[in-house]
Amino acid sequence: MARRRPAIGIDLGTTYSCVGVWRNNRVEIIANDQGNRTTSSCVGFKKTERLVGDAAKNEATSNPTNTVFAVKRLIGRRFSDPCVQSDKKLWPFKVIKGNDDRPNIIVDYQGAKKQFSAEEISAMILRKMKEVAEAFLGCTVKDAVVTVPAYFNDAQRQATKDAGLIAGLNVMRIMDEPTAAAVAYGFDTNAVNSPVKKNVLIFDLGGGTFDVSLLRINNGVIEVKATAGDTHLGGEDFDNRMVNHLVQEFKRKKRKDISNNPRALRRLQTACEQAKRILSTTTQTAVSIDCLYEGTDFYSTITRARFEELNVDLFKKCIETVARCHYDAGIDKDSIDVVVLIGGSTRIPKVQQLLKNYFSGKVLCKSIHPDEAVAYGAAVHAAKLSGQGCDKIRNLVLIDVTPLSLGTNVKGDITDVIIPRNTPIPTQKSHRYITCNDFQSAFDIKVYEGERVRCEDNNLLGHFRLPGIHRAPRGETEMKVYFKIDSDGILHVSVKEPVSGTKKHIILINREGRLSKQEIDRMVQEAARCRMEDELFKEKVLAKNSLEDYAYSLRKLVKNDIASGEYAKYIAEAVDKMIEWLKHDVPKDAYVYHTKKKELEEMSSTLSRMS
Ligand code: ADP
Ligand code: MG
Repeated sequence: MARRRPAIGIDLGTTYSCVGVWRNNRVEIIANDQGNRTTSSCVGFKKTERLVGDAAKNEATSNPTNTVFAVKRLIGRRFSDPCVQSDKKLWPFKVIKGNDDRPNIIVDYQGAKKQFSAEEISAMILRKMKEVAEAFLGCTVKDAVVTVPAYFNDAQRQATKDAGLIAGLNVMRIMDEPTAAAVAYGFDTNAVNSPVKKNVLIFDLGGGTFDVSLLRINNGVIEVKATAGDTHLGGEDFDNRMVNHLVQEFKRKKRKDISNNPRALRRLQTACEQAKRILSTTTQTAVSIDCLYEGTDFYSTITRARFEELNVDLFKKCIETVARCHYDAGIDKDSIDVVVLIGGSTRIPKVQQLLKNYFSGKVLCKSIHPDEAVAYGAAVHAAKLSGQGCDKIRNLVLIDVTPLSLGTNVKGDITDVIIPRNTPIPTQKSHRYITCNDFQSAFDIKVYEGERVRCEDNNLLGHFRLPGIHRAPRGETEMKVYFKIDSDGILHVSVKEPVSGTKKHIILINREGRLSKQEIDRMVQEAARCRMEDELFKEKVLAKNSLEDYAYSLRKLVKNDIASGEYAKYIAEAVDKMIEWLKHDVPKDAYVYHTKKKELEEMSSTLSRMS
């Protein structure tokens, strides 16, 4: 008999990530090695090592161009995506166009330029979260549920799954963040098992993304009724508004432009984030940075009112999205029983006030932790999928919906929707099509997602061709296109032409902007190599430290013994030399230190035999 391995839930956030596990009949949110319950989604590259998490964020200002953050804004997107183009202008690290229009991140690592995909960077963060859980549980962890914003499209979900694979995780399920938050709410309040239906609106305003979801909780069933959101709205946008404002102020007051200086921008950004947090509890705060640029200091104050003014259009956009979400679900705002706030940016008073006004003074639920709710829900789901937990978990049923309509092109470049948005998943649907030309020999199928009528206004997921179909006058050959969405929200497409029979094609769309199997394999190996390098580095440092400690203790010993003979004097000299060498030493293989330590140990034992 073997013990069941624990499965963890990971909230892979744009700015912060969080991990939880079901243990002793409850969810534990796990603190990292620094004692923090959330970990910065940040990776820093240096000459000798790689830092992941809080350590990387702490060094961000001194190593700005090699500290990578917010890769969730890149994952599963194309380089030419306008969002990528505008984000990259604000980032101190460099993003370039890689294969197939994919964004690659360039850093200086171990004295050379290195390129990483967004999946690889995300994998480093996922691995960190895995390690945080392993340290807590005292065993290896393989299985995980990883959350994504409900608004993530197919390519972004796949890419997140790939990142899990690279990190050495078995991603049991990609779960929507709002669903996870609803699970947390349901467990926290026991609403999950109540026979009374409840309409719950989850309002998640984080660092980089905004999600609104309307869910119905009833007798253990959590059903997503509608989702809406913006993959590009969150705390960092509020920070950036303040940064731009202060860059202008600096220009006006000091006649200096810092907008092309990554280090100065990064420092200003950090200060602005700090100021923004303070403004959630006070009405005015100072922003002061010594030697911001060319020896000039920057001192300013900012009021809460000014901050709100700079961002009010963004805040209002959030409320409009809320309205769209419940209209979509056909539920008016009075039928919403509770509004749950999650995500760090919901601490902003103006956001809360606008939301309260919209719901005519309804009390907002803040009892569940805004930073931890998503990981909490993911941990519950992970426990359920791995067969752990109590009855409450076993009875839980989650029903997700598709965030965007999916369809294919028909004549005139019109999108024919096969699976409408907000359809519960998993699901499978099919449509029949006929040929448009006489004796046509192939069908061309393009797959789109989006709500627009014209194909070109929607997002092209993939394109393929079914050759060798039955040739006949136009309109006489028929084919059937099947769309299937699995429980991860990932799309499979197949097409069949029955007359030619054998010409049946089942195709899993290889979405543009996605990694191929070979690339994933390469990245898995690369990640293993990086890990080995990290391990080797650690081993070197430990070996060096141990040699150093030994040398100092031996020096103490022989210095006291110095009168007792030539040999002790000889050792003392050797030890001094060794200490000097260690001071100017560039780290070598651990082996070198081990051998040197052995030499010293032999000298020492010879000495003790002599005396
Ligand atoms: P994500 O899920 O996108 O990673 P989080 O939900 O962890 O993000 O929220 C992080 C964001 O919340 C950051 O932009 C941070 O600045 C912001 N934030 C955290 N605390 C506060 C606060 N007290 N007031 C305003 N914003 C805050
Ligand atoms: Mg979040």
